[in-house]
Amino acid sequence: MRRRTLLSAAALGVAAAAYPAARAVAATAPALFVAAHPDDETLAMSTAIAEHVAAGQDVHVLLLTDGEGSGTINVINGTTTSPWWGNRHVPTAEGYAPLTATTLAAARVIEAQTALRCLAAGLPGTLTVHRASLPDGAVTSATAQAAIVAVADQIAPGGVVRLKGHSPTVDNHADHLAAGQAMVALATSNPARFSDRRHYILPMYWTDSRLSLVTESWDGPTDAGIAARVRAAVRSYGAWSPAQGSYAIGYHSVATMLDQLMSTPKCLQHP
Ligand SMILES: [Zn+2]
Repeated sequence: MRRRTLLSAAALGVAAAAYPAARAVAATAPALFVAAHPDDETLAMSTAIAEHVAAGQDVHVLLLTDGEGSGTINVINGTTTSPWWGNRHVPTAEGYAPLTATTLAAARVIEAQTALRCLAAGLPGTLTVHRASLPDGAVTSATAQAAIVAVADQIAPGGVVRLKGHSPTVDNHADHLAAGQAMVALATSNPARFSDRRHYILPMYWTDSRLSLVTESWDGPTDAGIAARVRAAVRSYGAWSPAQGSYAIGYHSVATMLDQLMSTPKCLQHP
């Protein structure tokens, strides 16, 4: 992995002791949440991520891509209009240069990192972000497996890593499906290391007919503090401040799912 960022309570300058340490700190293997694009970690897995950090665990998030392929670039650059914003953007009049794939990706990664800080700040565990920078729109099971193993070898050399990520069944996006399939393939090829896995379903599929193919269950927030963290993470995807490099890409792109999460902060997962 090329880059990683440690988002621990200490790194964020917040005393962990200021938060309740009542939850059992289990001596468990690292938890690795695998998201295909920046925003998937919040949309599909935010409640679970916050709960794991609150439990004092060693939590990692792997962004397989930086999300440079999003069609939302056309909305930000004023070619098309998002229903959430309402009017067409005029970049020059709004004081920013039209985004490129590179600057779009950088802004998306910042949104995800900000959201993850909302989920984890001050909690007893640690949260580390990893980026594989695979090509957006061209993730395969093989490339996702290699990226996951690379992080696993870094955080638990030769040891067990608990995998959390997309569903290989209840989703339509090829990158998401590839990520979920990679988890299944790793559990099959190396069950001693990767058999503990959970697949998280994006809110747009929470009533999908394919749920009949899996045994799903809800991960709800255990208290108001976790729910507030999820809502704060969602809000970070609506930050509009081009001068600061914030373009509310999440809300321009998937406002319906973010609003769904805002009203009902929880996760749906299957084994
Ligand atoms: Zn995605």
